[in-house]
Amino acid sequence: MNTNPIVSDENNDYPENESQNLNKKTKKKGGSQKTSWVWAWFESVETGSICKVEVVKGQFCNKHYQNGSSTGNLIGHLVDKHKITKDVKKHDYVVRNFNLI
Ligand SMILES: [Zn+2]
Repeated sequence: MNTNPIVSDENNDYPENESQNLNKKTKKKGGSQKTSWVWAWFESVETGSICKVEVVKGQFCNKHYQNGSSTGNLIGHLVDKHKITKDVKKHDYVVRNFNLI
């Protein structure tokens, strides 16, 4: 009969992972905060967002994005279609003038 109890070491090394997990930073993903620069160009409406970039004098783009579209989509549109980045201020944007005729 083996009656020798296995005495475990007293200095048990616990992995330190657990305490470090407490410091884990969780990124806040704010739901519908409209703080992005795109809102200088987009108008928020009931159904989503509408691009209010003036493509020609007196004529707005009016591209509609449904609710839930990420600002990334809106940014992509502004950059791709209007060459507008966040460094472009609204008063710096020159409406293309088609009065050349
Ligand atoms: Zn547009």
